[in-house]
Amino acid sequence: MRHILPAMIAAAVLPAVAGAATPRLAVVISVDQMRADYLDRFAPHFVEGGFGRFRSGANFPQCFYRHGVTKTGPGHAVIMTGVHANVHGIIGNEWKLPTWPNVEEVNCVEDRQAALVGLEPRAVRSPGGVLESKSGRSPRHLLAATVGDQLKARHGAAARVFGVADKDRAAILMSGAAADGAYWTEEGRVVTSTFYRPALPDYLAAFNAEQRPAKVFGATWDRLLAPAAYEQIQGPDDAEGESTKYGLGRTFPRRLDGGSGAPAKDFLEAFDHSPWNNDLVADLAKAVIDEEHLGQDDGAPDLLAIGFSQPDKIGHGYGPDSHEVMDSFLRLDRTLADLFAFIDAKVGLANCVFVLTADHGIPPTPERRAAAGLPGGRVRAADFDGPVTSALAARFGAAPGGQAWAVRDGLGYRLNPAALAETKASREEAEELVADTLRRQPNVASVYTRAQFLGAAPLDAAGEAMRLSFHAQRSPEVFAVLQPFFFDRTEIGVSHGQPYDYDQHVPLAWFGAGIKPGRHDARVGVDDVAPTLAGLLGLQAPVPAARGRPLF
Ligand SMILES: [Zn+2]
Repeated sequence: MRHILPAMIAAAVLPAVAGAATPRLAVVISVDQMRADYLDRFAPHFVEGGFGRFRSGANFPQCFYRHGVTKTGPGHAVIMTGVHANVHGIIGNEWKLPTWPNVEEVNCVEDRQAALVGLEPRAVRSPGGVLESKSGRSPRHLLAATVGDQLKARHGAAARVFGVADKDRAAILMSGAAADGAYWTEEGRVVTSTFYRPALPDYLAAFNAEQRPAKVFGATWDRLLAPAAYEQIQGPDDAEGESTKYGLGRTFPRRLDGGSGAPAKDFLEAFDHSPWNNDLVADLAKAVIDEEHLGQDDGAPDLLAIGFSQPDKIGHGYGPDSHEVMDSFLRLDRTLADLFAFIDAKVGLANCVFVLTADHGIPPTPERRAAAGLPGGRVRAADFDGPVTSALAARFGAAPGGQAWAVRDGLGYRLNPAALAETKASREEAEELVADTLRRQPNVASVYTRAQFLGAAPLDAAGEAMRLSFHAQRSPEVFAVLQPFFFDRTEIGVSHGQPYDYDQHVPLAWFGAGIKPGRHDARVGVDDVAPTLAGLLGLQAPVPAARGRPLF
């Protein structure tokens, strides 16, 4: 009896539950640089039906990235694969290739074989000439399957999978290699690449023909609510440490013209920093849902991943305690409420499952920290080059053929294997020498080496997080971690990317089909999202060896 009973329960209960609750459409929303605390901090001014649906859904306020390189590409790759860079291979937003002696850099979604589609004719040219051309894009650097890939593997053409986002890496890495489409924006236009299709579908060509950015040229971005509402939560509008780029200035109201009086490159940057950018992405999502009939049949489930990156851009410029960030989230809340109403009308919210998370968080600006008498600051990683180069030259002499012994890659260093081999210098010794040199640099907290990451010895918390960000074939040999509240950025504003709570702590909340509302205070990981969503869609987790676990 003891052996039969569980099997009988499984047979009787599981299919009924899965059949009743399997959603027609899964909507994955990543808000770039959304800190976990924003969901509560700005809640007094949220409308009904926006972020509030997540707050009152299945809410996991203690969700953290387990990895250390808390950047956009690595984060978006975790969300839908459930694994970290040690498996998914997206070790940064860009990294260097070991093409010695001329080391090249590659973007995490770069693919020269997959040209951009939809950028010509250009909407705007800078007065000085042609805007910078971009190489092609595809998910070829992503080494792990996504939930979308699983859905396509299980149901084939009956399941439709799309990614739409402001940033290429969000749309591409959250949808995956088998996606039906990934769309993102360049210069205020919707684009894709030949990896997905040779031309934009007609409905997106029409979308671009509307020239949405041009329509708001010269428009005013002011606070949605009275200034006192912002001052109460965030402090004063004008604060030290805020950016003044793209003609946006430090205070509200601001005119959206790029500071140049012409709809040129700086205007498009200003547009990208404005809430209209989120509206464009939401309208793109609506167009894809409508035209691709997502969730509008009884067949296999469909999946739509949506990435909003305006909050990251404005957050870098103004910091988490700014009026700019608060207003961006209040407006995104209204944008989401409108998007959910649209999906309700098209598909029915009860037929969908929604999940909200983010690719990383952000620390306060150093100026905000300093005002409270607390440490924090900006680090110029290039300042490490001199001491590292000198140490290598002092120990090993000049590298053969005028080559470099090492090249910096983010906050790490790659060693030149051919130069080391030619002079019979030990790779381990060179690693240790660079690591020791970095440990003596100001505001460096710890340094880890390839030998440590590949070894069996446990590391401290930051080291274990960095180990998850280390890919044996792709990563540099030596990697520095900065002191808390220091970050790799020289210009005014703030940045993320370190293995600390303020960068790792992000929202995680669900609502919709099969989701029981409730607050769950257990500490969970963003790598739990993919196995959880896969389970809700009746699929196995995309990567079997993943550490993440289904939350329901
Ligand atoms: Zn960022």
